[in-house]
Amino acid sequence: MLEFFIKLMKFEIKNLILHFKIFEFFTVYSQPMNFEDFQSIKQILSEQKKIAIVPHRNPDGDAYGSALALYHYLLKMNHKVTVVSPNDCPDFLKWMPGEDKIVIFEKDVKNAINILEEADIIFTVDFNALHRVGERMFKVLEKLKPLYIMIDHHQQPDDFAKFTYVDPLVCSTCQMLYQFMENLEDLNMIDTDIATCMYAGILTDTGSFRFPATSSETHRIVANLLDKGANNSEIYNKIHNVSSYDRLQLLGKALQNMKVVNEYRTAYISLSQSELNNNNFKKGDTEGFVNYALSLKNVIFAAIFIEDRKQGIIKISLRSVGDFSVNEFSRNHFNGGGHINAAGGRSEDSLHDTIEKFISLLPLYKNELQ
Ligand code: 5GP
Ligand code: MN
Repeated sequence: MLEFFIKLMKFEIKNLILHFKIFEFFTVYSQPMNFEDFQSIKQILSEQKKIAIVPHRNPDGDAYGSALALYHYLLKMNHKVTVVSPNDCPDFLKWMPGEDKIVIFEKDVKNAINILEEADIIFTVDFNALHRVGERMFKVLEKLKPLYIMIDHHQQPDDFAKFTYVDPLVCSTCQMLYQFMENLEDLNMIDTDIATCMYAGILTDTGSFRFPATSSETHRIVANLLDKGANNSEIYNKIHNVSSYDRLQLLGKALQNMKVVNEYRTAYISLSQSELNNNNFKKGDTEGFVNYALSLKNVIFAAIFIEDRKQGIIKISLRSVGDFSVNEFSRNHFNGGGHINAAGGRSEDSLHDTIEKFISLLPLYKNELQ
């Protein structure tokens, strides 16, 4: 009897895994938009519309790059367009063309709600689950019924948009947007501003063209963007060569705090709220820190844990090289997600307990990590 039960359980678990894999296959590799969808979008955009463009909370270069490139494109088509960002961006993105026109939900709630309520169309860019705009803005969006168009490149998109243009194999939402415009036969509308925004997004999301999702197609697109007026060297400098002294001191602290778990080829960094305060932390200062942990010889899994007392959470960034999926790891244990090799998450435990939990999970992934 017991033997039968064990066999049954094994069968069920196998089945479950199979189901999951099939589900994953369709959600990860399906590209749901076809020719007819693009024709419909063309039709919809052929008349003037009120359009809001929404990037995710804590926008990065790809989120603002795609939102602003789309903004310039739709403005050129004579639509009434506003980018409504859940919160502000780090200083290193403040130069982007059109950035000063963005309405920040957190700072200008009434105006932002008005724009969202009046929008015929809401484009969501660089995220795939509505709650990623943050609780307050999510509550507003939840009640609205605009026509949603999602342009994104993360795995396992939620099903809230009428049109979902997603390919998780593509390096960036900016590349998705370029392909979106190509499908609408509008590449000729790319001007210097659009090219600059797109270039900035592709540059940041590919880690300056070094991550594996950077394809020959990415380089072809980037070459076209240079021809349209994007200045590669200027954009790189504006994003990467603007560290404050405080940021580099904080990086020093982060590197001192780095721990390595050799057995699981894992390295992690932690920064407590007081360590952040001691170095006059500003939004965006910790961008890229986690990559130092991943740059260690033999390390294939890296994490950074950053305490945020104000929100009462630990913000987690996870990175990997190879097949170990930090997207799955984060979905399973830290309420997050992202891509195979880069994901984010959060924990409501203390910094200490979050790290303990992280360490205790490593043996579960022994096969992938050793
Ligand atoms: P980061 O560690 O830089 O915050 O995020 C890494 C990648 O994971 C980015 O592409 C980001 O958009 C995505 N990401 C971060 N947090 C979350 C989350 O909570 N859920 C999902 N689905 N993706 C996330
Ligand atoms: Mn992105």
